Amino acid sequence: MSDLIRRDPRLEWIMRNRLHPRHGELSNQPTRGPTGLLRKNPRPQWQYGPSGLRRLDRLNMSSAAGVTQLSSKKRSEQVVLPLHQVVEPQAYIAVWLQTSGGRLTSHCKDVLGQAQQLAVAREQSTAVLGVLCGELKESLEGAGVDRLLQVQGEQYEGYQPEAWSQLCAQVEDSLNPLYWLFPDSGEAAELGRRLSVALGVRPATSVWKLEADKLLARNGAGNQDISRPWSRVMLLLEECALPCAEYRYEASPVQLELSAPCRSRLQDLGQIAVDPAEIPLAEAEFILSAGNGVHDWPQFHQAAALLGASEGASRVAVDDGHMPRNRQVGATGTWVSARVYIAVGISGAVQHLQGIGKCEKVVAINQDADCDMVKRASLTTIGDSSEILAALMALVEAKSAQEVSDAA
Ligand SMILES: Cc1cc2nc3c(=O)[nH]c(=O)nc-3n(C[C@H](O)[C@H](O)[C@H](O)COP(=O)(O)OP(=O)(O)OC[C@H]3O[C@@H](n4cnc5c(N)ncnc54)[C@H](O)[C@@H]3O)c2cc1C
Repeated sequence: MSDLIRRDPRLEWIMRNRLHPRHGELSNQPTRGPTGLLRKNPRPQWQYGPSGLRRLDRLNMSSAAGVTQLSSKKRSEQVVLPLHQVVEPQAYIAVWLQTSGGRLTSHCKDVLGQAQQLAVAREQSTAVLGVLCGELKESLEGAGVDRLLQVQGEQYEGYQPEAWSQLCAQVEDSLNPLYWLFPDSGEAAELGRRLSVALGVRPATSVWKLEADKLLARNGAGNQDISRPWSRVMLLLEECALPCAEYRYEASPVQLELSAPCRSRLQDLGQIAVDPAEIPLAEAEFILSAGNGVHDWPQFHQAAALLGASEGASRVAVDDGHMPRNRQVGATGTWVSARVYIAVGISGAVQHLQGIGKCEKVVAINQDADCDMVKRASLTTIGDSSEILAALMALVEAKSAQEVSDAA
């Protein structure tokens, strides 16, 4: 047999191609370099954690345990998270479930993340109890709710602080939660303060960090931190904790004997339609934003009006005089936190991406499939902006016409 060292071009190709299904398995084995020396792949390997996030496998645990890396096909499959169960709770941490349009707000998800941290840290079996008024259009499976008390009916929907306070008082009487956590924003912030008065406790407001025995809360117009003891009623700021991501939660219903809600002294006259163009960008929930890739400006304005979106723009679109300066999104413009941000013909420069860091869902419309906005987006449409906006408007018009004919 010849002593000649033969190279295997296919093996070398697999070693270079990280997405190849056998890459992990083969690249962990030492191979011979061109000089015949044994070489080990110095690059750390990666695997997928239970939440579906890619993680570096520095200890090479995946191959040791016989787990092969997921192929790109498998990666797109749904990862089933382990179920977190609290079988017989001995204590509760109550969280007011703040919703917008029938979905939990991202602020509320942060508060639930904090509640789960508190529950897990306790020796006693403790469940996170979500208290919800009205209907929900999404599943609570991943949000961090172990038990759910949901009440529906017009007495609880809209702006009903008196009925909500009464509900909280009944939960307090029946289950006596260890802590009450509220997002410190909107109506939930008001309700938390109302409950504190009813319970006669001093609430902790603007809380952004819970430590072992103390908490940190913002003060002095957000420029100062104060440290104080925990309170039974805590109102937490956004990003107080990471939202839950590692488990599925039961959200099993809790049945309580509730008395009928009191007669409200306040009358909710419903929401008033406002012109989306009048909403300050920082507060807008739905933004259609234009960049250098928009060439038909009347069409862009028409699309924003039809979708009911507030208009935003990249700096180039503003500098070119197509949009006013107060509509610029980004590091030197406005930092926005919309639930949906549609970027039309925006490349995704770092200064622009900084401004949309807090947006929940980003949709990119662009000709360039490799641009940074496409990497940031949850959904992308590749093509000419004018054609895509025209198709989008046609769809919206068709849907509206359908709704009108259904109603007739
Ligand atoms: C100090 C400093 C501060 C800055 N601050 C900001 C800021 O606050 N906000 C900001 O936005 N920028 C800011 N910038 C500018 C930033 O660096 C970019 O130049 C700018 O964001 C690019 O804007 P754009 O994506 O609209 O344009 P371009 O970079 O020109 O991108 C245009 C995009 O449109 C796509 N496109 C072209 N034609 C079409 C078509 N027909 N259909 C669909 N897509 C198409 C292209 O593929 C491309 O992705 C700042 C720069 C500096 C130096």
